[in-house]
Amino acid sequence: MHSPITSYTLLLASLFSCGLTHAGLCESGQRQSPTDLRASSQQAGGALSFDYRTTALKIANDGHTVRVRFHNGSTLRIGKQAYTLEQFHFHTPGGDRIEGQQFPMAAHLLHKSPSGQLLAVGVLFRLGAENALLNRLLPLIPKAGSGDHGLADETLNPLLLLPQDKLYYRYQGSLTAAPCTEGVEWLMLKNPVEISAQQLQRYKALFNDNMRAAQPLNGRRVVQSP
Ligand SMILES: [Zn+2]
Repeated sequence: MHSPITSYTLLLASLFSCGLTHAGLCESGQRQSPTDLRASSQQAGGALSFDYRTTALKIANDGHTVRVRFHNGSTLRIGKQAYTLEQFHFHTPGGDRIEGQQFPMAAHLLHKSPSGQLLAVGVLFRLGAENALLNRLLPLIPKAGSGDHGLADETLNPLLLLPQDKLYYRYQGSLTAAPCTEGVEWLMLKNPVEISAQQLQRYKALFNDNMRAAQPLNGRRVVQSP
C-alpha cells in the first residue's frame, strides 16, 4: 500500500530511525494511528491559534486521496510553538473514533515545526449539510497520477475545513498508512464538520477506502483541551 503522503514518508523515514523495519511498524508499533479517543486526562493543552491564509489552489490526485499543498506560510500556533501547514488530504472512513463513535470521512491537515516535528490536525465529517470546501474541491479533482495542478484562478482558505469550535484531543501517534512511522503529534478536533450524502457518494466514486481500523492506545495518554 502506498502512503497518500509520500513526501512525509520519505522525510520521516530519514528523521525517525529505530530497530524495527518500517513495514513492521504497521504490525508491531505500539503508538499507532488512528485510535479510539477517550480522554484519559483533562489538562490545559493550550489553545489553538490558526493563522491560515487564502492561497491559489495546488491540487493532486495520487489515486488514493486528493491532496492540496500549501507554500504560503499558513501556520498553527499552540502556545509558543508554531507549525507550518504543508498539505491536507482526505480519508474514508474517518479512522479516529471519538468515544467509540465512527465517522464516514476525515481530513488530515499536516504541519511541521521548524525543528521538523510533524503535527497532524484531524477533522472528522458526519453526514449532514453540504460542505462548502468540498463543493469547491470536488469539481477540481484532477485525474489520478497526473501530478500537481496549480490552479492560479482558484483560491482557497483551509480555515473552511475547520469546525467553529476548536476543542481537541491530543495524542502521540503515527502515519495512518505504510510505513506507519511513529512520532507524529495528533490533534483530533472534537467537533465534526458536515458533508452531504451526495458529496460523500461523489467522493467515494473517485477513491476507494484508504483508512485502516482504530489501533490500540497501549497506555498512551490522551490529553483533552480545556
Ligand atoms: Zn492522512
